[in-house]
Amino acid sequence: MTSTSERPLLFLDVDGPLIPFGSSAGQPDADAAASMPVARGNPLLARLDPGIGARLIALGCQLVWATTWMEEANEVVAPRIGLPRLPVLEWPDAGAEGTARGLHWKTPPMVEWAAGRPFIWVDDEISAMDRLWVEAGHPGPALLYQVDPAKGLSGADFRALAGWLDAVAPS
Ligand SMILES: [Mg+2]
Repeated sequence: MTSTSERPLLFLDVDGPLIPFGSSAGQPDADAAASMPVARGNPLLARLDPGIGARLIALGCQLVWATTWMEEANEVVAPRIGLPRLPVLEWPDAGAEGTARGLHWKTPPMVEWAAGRPFIWVDDEISAMDRLWVEAGHPGPALLYQVDPAKGLSGADFRALAGWLDAVAPS
């Protein structure tokens, strides 16, 4: 790694990777509840792992929120997992440009943000169309990392991310 500005980016989703939807008693419709993240009393927040922020920081990437939580991720999620305030990927203006079928709203602005820098996208909703879009539009290395939303980010996931980073940007 040559400088801070050249560190790989890591775009981070909340629902799924940080808040797993794994089955638990009394939570029959986690997906519906997770779609209402602005609720301060969101019981799903209890699923956040307080130690996961430190593990994310240890990866050495520049972290960016890429989540429908938007700025709420900084206000509600970050303090619970030991992350500082992070930049937030903005939801693109609807209708500004036709979105390809099956393409996640996050994918075009991530590619634009990265501007060729190596990046990781950690999410539970990555499609073949997203991979095609990144291959076609991003000249640098990129890892689109699918997390099992039932379990959230695991030790095996962190090892995979670290392994990719070692290969792309040896420290
Ligand atoms: Mg998600």
